[in-house]
Amino acid sequence: MRQYEMIAGLETHVELSTKTKIFCGCTTAFGSEPNTHCCPVCTGMPGTLPKLNARVVEYAVRAGLATGCRINRISKMDRKNYVYPDLPKAYQISQYDKPLCEWGRIELSNGRTIRITRIHIEEDAGKLVHVRGNTLVDYNRGGVPLIEIVTEPDFRSADEIREYLETLQLTMKTIGVSDCKMQEGSLRCDVNISVRPVGSETFGTRTEIKNMNSFTYMEKAVAYETERQIDLIESGGTVVQETRRYDEASGMTESMRGKEDADDYRYFREPDLVTIAVTDEQIEQWQADMPELPRHRLDRYTNQLQLPAADAALLVKYPRIAAYFDEAAQGVNARTVANFILGALFRRLPTDAEKENAAFPVPAAYLHDLAALIDGGKLNMNLAKTTFEKMLDTGKPVSDLLTQADLAGLDAEALAAVCRAAVENNPAAVADIRAGKEKAMGALIGYVMKATRGKADAGAATALLKQLIG
Ligand code: ADP
Ligand code: MG
Ligand code: ZN
Repeated sequence: MRQYEMIAGLETHVELSTKTKIFCGCTTAFGSEPNTHCCPVCTGMPGTLPKLNARVVEYAVRAGLATGCRINRISKMDRKNYVYPDLPKAYQISQYDKPLCEWGRIELSNGRTIRITRIHIEEDAGKLVHVRGNTLVDYNRGGVPLIEIVTEPDFRSADEIREYLETLQLTMKTIGVSDCKMQEGSLRCDVNISVRPVGSETFGTRTEIKNMNSFTYMEKAVAYETERQIDLIESGGTVVQETRRYDEASGMTESMRGKEDADDYRYFREPDLVTIAVTDEQIEQWQADMPELPRHRLDRYTNQLQLPAADAALLVKYPRIAAYFDEAAQGVNARTVANFILGALFRRLPTDAEKENAAFPVPAAYLHDLAALIDGGKLNMNLAKTTFEKMLDTGKPVSDLLTQADLAGLDAEALAAVCRAAVENNPAAVADIRAGKEKAMGALIGYVMKATRGKADAGAATALLKQLIG
C-alpha cells in the first residue's frame, strides 16, 4: 500500500463576547429560556433594519491583530442566501470578498506555521432542537456576533489541529474577545480533510466535517475520515467533495449533503448596511492596549525568568494563574513562586475549571512576602512549605503565622543544643544508626524539626547528628 499524508484546513467560528448582538440591542447571554432574547431585527421581521454594533468590529480587529493579520481599512458586509429554519431572513449577513482581516499566522511548537487566510464577521443562526420527531427552534443565538477564522490547508495531523485550536482559544480569551467554550458552542470548527500519496505535490479532493465541538471527537473524526479516504482511493474509488457529519455514537462520519459552491449562496452586498471603515488611529489604539499574548508570555517565562518549559506552559495555560504568578514573582525568585503555585496551590485546584476560574485563598502579595523571606535566608524551605499550607487554609499573611522567633533563624549554637537533645532523648534510634540503619536518622531529624518548629536546616542538622553519634 502507498503511504498517504493527510492535509487539513480549518474554519473556526468564535462567538464574540459583546454584551449585545451584532445588529440589535438584544443580549447575547447564554443559557436562558428559549426565544427570550429576541426582537424583530434578530428574528428577521420584514421592514426591520440592522445596525452594526461597533464593538463587533473592534473585537474582530483585535482578534486579527493578535494573530498577526493585515487589517483591511475598508470592508463591507454581504448577504449569503440560504433557506433553513435557523435563519428566518433566509440570508445570513456575513463578509465575502472584503473581510476585515487577512493573512495572519499561528506558530506551532513543532516549528510549523499555520497560515490564517482571513477573519471575517457574521451573525450566528438560531439553534434547532430536535424533540421526539419534532424540530423546535430557539432564536436566542440568532444574531450573536461571530468571527470566522479560516486557515490555509496547512495542517498535517490531528495533534497540530488541537494545538492550533488551544492556542487560538487562549489567545482570544487573553485579549478578552471571547470565552471560547467549546462545550457551550462559543468555539466550533469545521475541519476540511483530504489525503494524498506522500511525495505528491497536488492536493486531493476534500470533505468537510461540520461543527466539531470537542477535542476528543475532533481527533476521532479526523482519524476516521483520513482512513476512510485512504481506503476509498486504495480500493479504486474517488473521494467526493461533500459536507459530512461525525456521528458520536458510531464513531463514523456520514454524508450530509453535497458541498455548496460560493455561487449557490448568491452572495451580494448587504444593501442595508454602510461600508465599514477602520482608521489607523483605532488600530494603533487597539494594538497599544493589547495585553501580553500567550506566546510572548511563554517566551518571557522561559527566557527571562528561566522557568522550565513545561512549568511555563502550565502557568500560561490559565491566564488568571499567570497573572497571579506575575504579581507574586515581582522582584523575588520566580522559580520558588512557580513551585508554590504548581505544587501546593494546584493540589487545591485539581480540575481544569478550578484552575481556570481560580479564586485565590492567598493574595499574590502574601505569596510574594513568603518568597522574599526565603530569598533573604530568613525561612528555610521546609518551614516555608508548611507555612504556605497554613496560608492556604486560613488566608492569613506570613506575619500572622510565624513569630519573630521563627524568623530569627537558628544560630549554630542553638542547633547544636537541639541536636544533642535529640541524641539524648532517642537512644533506640541512635543504636539503630550505629548498627548501620541509616533510616533511623529520620526520627532524629523529626525531633529537631519539631523542637525548632521547622526552622532548622535539615542538611546542617544531619551533618551535626552524624558527628555527635560518631
Ligand atoms: P469554502 O469557502 O467553499 O468552504 P475554501 O476554499 O474557502 O472553501 O476552503 C475552506 C477550507 O478548506 C480552508 O480552511 C482551506 O484551507 C481548506 N481546504 C481547501 N482545499 C483543501 C484540500 N484539498 N484539503 C484540505 N483542506 C482544504
Ligand atoms: Mg466551508
Ligand atoms: Zn434582537
